[in-house]
Amino acid sequence: MTATRDLYGFTHAELTALLASWDLSPVHAARLWRYLYWESTGSLAAMTALPARMRRQLEAETFLGALPIAREQHSTDGFTRKFLLALPDAREIETVLMRFTGRVTACVSSQAGCAMGCVFCATGQMGFQRHLSAGEIVAQAVHINRTLRGESSDPLPPRLRNLVLMGMGEPLHNYEAVVRAAEILRDPSGLSLGAERITLSTVGVVPGIRRLASERQPIHLAVSLHAATQEERAALVPAARKWPLDELMDACRDYTAQTGRRIFYEWTLIAGQNDSAEHAHSVGRLLAGQHAQVNLIPLNPTDGYAGAPTGREAARRFQDILAGYRLPCTVRQRRGIDIGAGCGQLAAAG
Ligand code: SAH
Ligand code: SF4
Repeated sequence: MTATRDLYGFTHAELTALLASWDLSPVHAARLWRYLYWESTGSLAAMTALPARMRRQLEAETFLGALPIAREQHSTDGFTRKFLLALPDAREIETVLMRFTGRVTACVSSQAGCAMGCVFCATGQMGFQRHLSAGEIVAQAVHINRTLRGESSDPLPPRLRNLVLMGMGEPLHNYEAVVRAAEILRDPSGLSLGAERITLSTVGVVPGIRRLASERQPIHLAVSLHAATQEERAALVPAARKWPLDELMDACRDYTAQTGRRIFYEWTLIAGQNDSAEHAHSVGRLLAGQHAQVNLIPLNPTDGYAGAPTGREAARRFQDILAGYRLPCTVRQRRGIDIGAGCGQLAAAG
């Protein structure tokens, strides 16, 4: 039998059931689980605390989907480490360790490439390659946690606490794998990420937003808006033709009504395109009264798009106008801009 099942794609309960089917006890499952998340050795053979028979069986029927580093870049400000990780089929995805004041966040990918084609996005420019499995999403977080702990000489090293699905790909186009990965990442004996600490960002896949709400998934929602009229949005985000702005806003309002959660709206600021005072007023009117926060992200220029980022002053003006609509609004710190930490940019650099 070929080993087709990635150990990082199992929940703890499924692993326990698999080992039970081989007459192995939950204690063995717990030991393996600890190896996977806290002592990972990178190979099954090195998990010497496991019985030899168990390791042989695991090797025959499963594999350890730890993702090797194909390339790494550090930002000059020291706040960001960006990894290009190699998938078993040699495709490459981006995973980023980002440091903000007082917290560390892993930014992980949900797909290799992306089918949504947003004009300014390096991942969109490369097109869709394939969905990631739940195990491949989990393995990225494991990699960041291990990196973080490896950096520290503290006897009680820090651990990863925050995760955003804002790397390559559209998470709600790969719903099942993303939701499963989040469940595995929340496991208290695994990475134990708090329910309030996982956020996914979507281009606005309306059925996916509705499903997250109806299933009460403990995942925070960020929605990439970028424009406040259907026409302007469709020019930047082709997916808006399939899921028009008014349907998206209905889904977002229903999401908040059902879950009580605030939605983060992302707005990539592009000079002369969507950064005028009028644009700020139109987004203010669109979102006024919603339980929402707006995150402004000055454009990271990409080869496939001629736009330039909005300057500091215009970003500030945009922010002030939104404050007038009682919409909390941040300008995203441009961590790692010098290493192309915009979505898909390291992979696109080849
Ligand atoms: N597919 C999802 C999540 C990944 S992209 C989504 O689109 O929301 C994460 C965020 O980065 C999105 O808000 C996206 O619009 C933004 N983004 C992509 N390319 C960018 C660029 N070159 N400069 C600034 N923001 C960018
Ligand atoms: Fe895909 Fe998001 Fe990039 Fe759009 S911005 S192409 S949805 S990854």
